Amino acid sequence: MSVNLDKAKLDYLREKYEVAIGLEVHAELSTKTKIFCSCTTEFGGSPNTHCCPICMGMPGTLPVLNKKVVEYGMKAGYATNCKILNFTKQDRKNYFYPDLPKGYQISQYDLPICREGYVEIDVQGRRKKIRITRIHIEEDAGKLVHDELTHRTIADYNRAGVPLIEIVTEPDLSSAEETIIFLEKLKSILQFIDVSDCKMQEGSLRADVNISIRPKGSKNLGTRTETKNLNSFKSISRAIEAEIMRQIMEVENGREIIQETRRWDDEKGVSYSMRSKEEEHDYRYFPEPDLPPVIFNEVWMERVKSSVPELPEARKKKYMKKYNLPEYDADILTSSRELSDFFEEAIGEKSRTADRKTEGRGESKTGKYENNIAEVATTVNVKAISNWIMGDLLRILKDRNIEISDVTFSPKYLAKLVTMIDKGVINANTGKKVFEKMFDSGKDPEIIVKEECLEIITDESYLLEIVKKVVEQNPKSVADYKNGKEKSFSFLMGQLMKETKGKADPQLARKYLIDVINTL
Ligand code: ADP
Ligand code: MG
Ligand code: ZN
Repeated sequence: MSVNLDKAKLDYLREKYEVAIGLEVHAELSTKTKIFCSCTTEFGGSPNTHCCPICMGMPGTLPVLNKKVVEYGMKAGYATNCKILNFTKQDRKNYFYPDLPKGYQISQYDLPICREGYVEIDVQGRRKKIRITRIHIEEDAGKLVHDELTHRTIADYNRAGVPLIEIVTEPDLSSAEETIIFLEKLKSILQFIDVSDCKMQEGSLRADVNISIRPKGSKNLGTRTETKNLNSFKSISRAIEAEIMRQIMEVENGREIIQETRRWDDEKGVSYSMRSKEEEHDYRYFPEPDLPPVIFNEVWMERVKSSVPELPEARKKKYMKKYNLPEYDADILTSSRELSDFFEEAIGEKSRTADRKTEGRGESKTGKYENNIAEVATTVNVKAISNWIMGDLLRILKDRNIEISDVTFSPKYLAKLVTMIDKGVINANTGKKVFEKMFDSGKDPEIIVKEECLEIITDESYLLEIVKKVVEQNPKSVADYKNGKEKSFSFLMGQLMKETKGKADPQLARKYLIDVINTL
């Protein structure tokens, strides 16, 4: 493409064409073990240490399908409005490449776990449905590392046999922007239902992008190219923009688009042809003879379905409608499953979060305690809880570089703390101190307050006594205040707070201080 074309010309050309984009998204599943053996799926590790004869493709070994992989695939389907049939099977996809020790990949051909779903996205104020063609399960390949120094290629099979789902969309996307919005949404769904960590930098989420152009108004889709294995939102977006313009220039110059697979060079910002597109029959698909088909019974399907939590979008709506939270709060609170679950537990929202582990948060299992919680839940100050989470909690997590899952106190304790402040048992400043102690020790805030005698001084005669004492000890400041020096009053208040270790009710203390000084 000529670099000298000015922007106006480019924009003009871009306007002449419509774009269709379909994705093949691969997500590594976060099961503990691989899809056909019991090796770990953990990322990294010294080369070839997460392997066994099965995932190394040794002759004579037999695969055993990991049930969790099927469940995760189903969950992804339920969360993206797919149809799930009660019968699925695995197929061999044959091709030769050194990262594939068996010489074939076990994937799914004509009976994928899920089909015909959709995900809705918001693009420039409009809702748009992106149809999901299918979701199937398959195994990942190993990794080839090219050593510049020795000019050798080293094969690491740690990743071989790590379970994947491949999510294929219809060509419903029409720009790089829409594609990124869709992928962000998909990523958050997969993370929320806990089937993939979607860490793009570790290759847990990667996409092949199919792109075609056609003159505006034309009904038939143009010939597509496929750009393989893009693994960051930025490179996906740049690769799409570049490919659209490349195709437009080809057509404008009277050439045809060739259906081919292309590779994107993110450093140079260009793509180049890898190979002409392989046809389906090149793979010689056939049913995997070493694995029987999987037949789902309804009880199992129901159980998996009910383990899919309410998705971020629904939760966000609920927070705004039912709890009157601002959109800003709702966005932050639904930014991750962990944070959202924490918030829901704190406010006593009974949602389908029960299957998630809450052990280790130190909550009591006694009936009495549970009753207390129920009481808290009906009167709890939701906005205050949201403020504590968005403020102090997230700040401490950031400062200490830890995750919400590292928090040791029960979310319900946060509700208790807020209630104690609201009821005037402690003042807001003491609340901050108690919060930090609760964070460090995991202890019940009520116990912290009792043990450290942090309650607001409600004994009025006692408070009056301390006020008198402060006034007696600081005659000069009292005189200064009487002569109009406002600052001296703040000093006296400060002394009073010091004397009461911050536990005086500020309004009451202020009133007493003025009263006592006025009688002098
Ligand atoms: P294959 O598995 O051989 O890559 P598929 O027919 O399964 O081919 O399609 C793969 C992807 O290509 C899908 O995401 C689909 O939406 C997309 N696609 C198909 N035709 C077009 C087209 N003309 N323009 C853009 N994307 C397309
Ligand atoms: Mg493909
Ligand atoms: Zn193995």
